[in-house]
Amino acid sequence: MSAKLLKGAEVAKEIRAELKAEVERLKEKHGVVPGLVTILVGENPASQSYVRAKQQTAHELGFYSVQDNQPVDLNENKLLELIDMYNKDPKIHGILVQLPLPKHINEHKVLLAIDPSKDVDAFHPVNVGKLMIGEPDYLPCTPAGIQELLIRSGTEISGAEVVVVGRSNIVGKPIAMMLLQKAKGANATVTVVHTRTKDVQFHTKRADIVIAAAGVAEYVKGDMIKPGAVVIDVGVNEVGRTADGKRILKGDVAFNEAVEIASAITPVPGGVGPMTITMLMKNTVRACKVHNNIKD
Ligand code: NAP
Repeated sequence: MSAKLLKGAEVAKEIRAELKAEVERLKEKHGVVPGLVTILVGENPASQSYVRAKQQTAHELGFYSVQDNQPVDLNENKLLELIDMYNKDPKIHGILVQLPLPKHINEHKVLLAIDPSKDVDAFHPVNVGKLMIGEPDYLPCTPAGIQELLIRSGTEISGAEVVVVGRSNIVGKPIAMMLLQKAKGANATVTVVHTRTKDVQFHTKRADIVIAAAGVAEYVKGDMIKPGAVVIDVGVNEVGRTADGKRILKGDVAFNEAVEIASAITPVPGGVGPMTITMLMKNTVRACKVHNNIKD
């Protein structure tokens, strides 16, 4: 058996076309343009490339987009002042501070400074809390991308046994919480495993849906998956460079083994990654509507 590929890149393209049409409608009917600022402190090459991709997508969708590059020695107060400025800027509806921040800046303090109604990454405790009680304004982007991919591929989530490998605040915990909700595209029975779990394979092997977000290249092997399961590989792990310097990326799943056992699987790259940026754009469009009191 060879699994169906869940090509996030293609689904993301579909959603972006829907968003582009929505942006045009907002312009024509309401005279508003979604505005996104991405703040990058320092010159971390991976962060630079993530921010570039976000800006490029925002531009393609017709957003008002601002790329705010700050030097690595920017002090914390200056960053907080900058966020305050964007909180008050009516042209900006979404504020994204690219993580990680340099060590001298307190990340938690910075995330708390973002107006929750402009928190399109959905990392502010207000948005995390709203997700927990099942009343989210914004969904965190990578988990939202995973859920959307599952829904659009016709995967049965309601009643499914889902096992999430990893319990980080940006992937593992929020996706577990989202799929657990009493809501459409959810209602799963969710188990979360981590480094202190006694027998990870016992859990993954009985899962209808495995979501791998461990940050360990090819950690989930073929024999850890139940035949016919749906496998979502969130991992992006650099395992080396090609002769011409390009990054060689591997997911958290041993793809060549898993593809023979699963019924559907996301490739890396081209799976969850493109969905993440698209969900950021979706949140920004939503933020624009919230800020302009647009209900249609
Ligand atoms: P993280 O903060 O490092 O968390 C990893 C989690 O996996 C931790 O909870 C850890 O458990 C658990 N874990 C690690 N090794 C394990 C093992 N051997 N057995 C069981 N559990 C294990 O990582 P993250 O930020 O969630 O990211 C996970 C992966 O997704 C990374 O490869 C990252 O690059 C990728 N990612 C991709 C996107 C995207 O858009 N495609 C977005 C975000 C992240 P403990 O808590 O016990 O330490």
